[in-house]
Amino acid sequence: MCGIVGYIGSKNCIPIIIEGLKRLEYRGYDSAGIGFIENNSCRVIKNKGKVSLLEKKVAEGVYSPSVGLGHTRWATHGEPNEINAHPHYNADKSLMIIHNGIIENYQTLKTILINAGYEFKSQTDSEVLAHLIDSFLKKGNELFKAVRLALAEVEGTYGLAILYDKEPDKIIVAKKGSPLVIGVGDDENYIASDVSALIAYTSRVVYIEDGEVAEVFRDGFNAKTILDEDINKEIHKISMSLEEIDRGGYETFMLKEIMEQPESVLNSMRGRLLFDEGTVKLGGIQNLAERLAKTKRIIITACGTSWHAGLVGEYMFEQFLRIPTEVEYASEFRYRNPILQPDDAIFFISQSGETADSLAALKEAKRKGALVLGICNVVGSSIARESEAGVYIHAGPEIGVASTKAFTSQLVVLALITLLIARKKDMSLIDGQKIVEEFQAIPEKIKTILKLNSQIEEIASKFRDAKNFLYLGRGYNFPVALEGALKLKEISYIHAEGYPAAEMKHGPIALVDENMPVVFIAPKDSTYDKIVSNIEEIRARKGRIIAIASESDNHIDNLADFTIKIPDTIRMLMPILTVIPLQLLAYHIAMKKGLNVDQPRNLAKSVTVE
Ligand code: GLU
Repeated sequence: MCGIVGYIGSKNCIPIIIEGLKRLEYRGYDSAGIGFIENNSCRVIKNKGKVSLLEKKVAEGVYSPSVGLGHTRWATHGEPNEINAHPHYNADKSLMIIHNGIIENYQTLKTILINAGYEFKSQTDSEVLAHLIDSFLKKGNELFKAVRLALAEVEGTYGLAILYDKEPDKIIVAKKGSPLVIGVGDDENYIASDVSALIAYTSRVVYIEDGEVAEVFRDGFNAKTILDEDINKEIHKISMSLEEIDRGGYETFMLKEIMEQPESVLNSMRGRLLFDEGTVKLGGIQNLAERLAKTKRIIITACGTSWHAGLVGEYMFEQFLRIPTEVEYASEFRYRNPILQPDDAIFFISQSGETADSLAALKEAKRKGALVLGICNVVGSSIARESEAGVYIHAGPEIGVASTKAFTSQLVVLALITLLIARKKDMSLIDGQKIVEEFQAIPEKIKTILKLNSQIEEIASKFRDAKNFLYLGRGYNFPVALEGALKLKEISYIHAEGYPAAEMKHGPIALVDENMPVVFIAPKDSTYDKIVSNIEEIRARKGRIIAIASESDNHIDNLADFTIKIPDTIRMLMPILTVIPLQLLAYHIAMKKGLNVDQPRNLAKSVTVE
């Protein structure tokens, strides 16, 4: 998920790699490492923390290698520390790998390798790649072939680069699901996970595609598919500015992150769905599943967008687990001497895992003896460390201050937890399998919604001057109304309120006139008829209606001024879909107002103060 850089040529590769890693720093990472071959042997230098620390550490020695690799890690498996940082060696340190992504079947591969006598140094999923490739080298294969044979056994995603001191004049790269490019120079070549790392040196690049492996030499490269088919790769000339490249060609990080959701949501599920058993595997809390199934009460504690995810979690837990669930603002929870029982389970949701209020609430809950569980994006963060157990959302680094992809991934993880516990309770195999199928279909459905981007932009252009907004939804989509309103407030500075649709008539309806835009989240579910009545009530008072509705719903076109049609799924997963048009609507309204959506005024990405 984070950064890869490499160089092979005649210059000292170290400054080139350090510079490239610095170019990737904006992505957020937790450790960095560099590896190279000098005098026909491999050497690795790595540390927790910043590239500048790595730079200092490297400067303590005198090296001048002409082939090397660099990595910034955004931990998914194992804490961010020096041992888990990349590169990872094989046993005799003749080979090193750097990897971005997640190896889904690493546990199976690790067991096989351990049985074959391999020893593991780190807790990462990535280290299996070093030993697996080693096992094919030991069978007499040359490196390029050994890598292809190894990758044929790997499930998951990778951007991968490898050095081997017995074949010191090449870097091997491979890609599946994580980006990887070769930068073409004159008698020197570069590799990177992101063109921004090499744009200072060359504008000629070759995009490695999924399922392709390449050997990169000083004076050229050779690409094949994993299945050993030859391929001809085209060299592209890049003309984007550096800034544009950092944002993957998008105008802002926020848009990039909204558009990334098919992949980020998939990453949250990766390796976790078990169709045959109609359940999921969540390493972090697997051994607590029985205990959770017997819990008398669940409390979800969070702030901001994560709190909205928590509210959706409450609907999930109560519908499927029949366990009473409460959702608390961390800041309130920590100061009001909450009543906790020893068999309560408390989930803390935080993207950064550093949210000060949530962390303090967590410590208070721990003192009172409750079972404390974390749902975080950042691996090894304070909340993740302080929790007894937890589940990472694996959404990848989120840079835009207003959370988008972390929210949808939090929803995925809450739904996964629900399924895990529900199957320990009374959910049938068939029902579990149906939910697994619905999970699997979600990324494609998100893609369908993202195709509506220009339609939503068009709608946004009509509302850039609005002073107020109302967002209304029922059931699972009530928290989505809150989240839609929060997104708009955060980045467009327009006053917006989210309400349960039926509550509207108990007060807010007084605000409605022809100047009040009202967004209804109205998919065809069990509350559809009720919400249609609420739409009629707003129409009668001339409010301007934007409806998020089901593809199959033709009736709603007659009621709303604007409709955004999205695919259906089961109720529990619907918020993952309904929130996306709201993210885009807020985004485009703010952009039409000429605002800085990535860094909205007064807001910080990770709120580490009370
Ligand atoms: N899954 C790997 C790890 O946790 C790679 C993470 C990354 O993409 O930075 O080490």
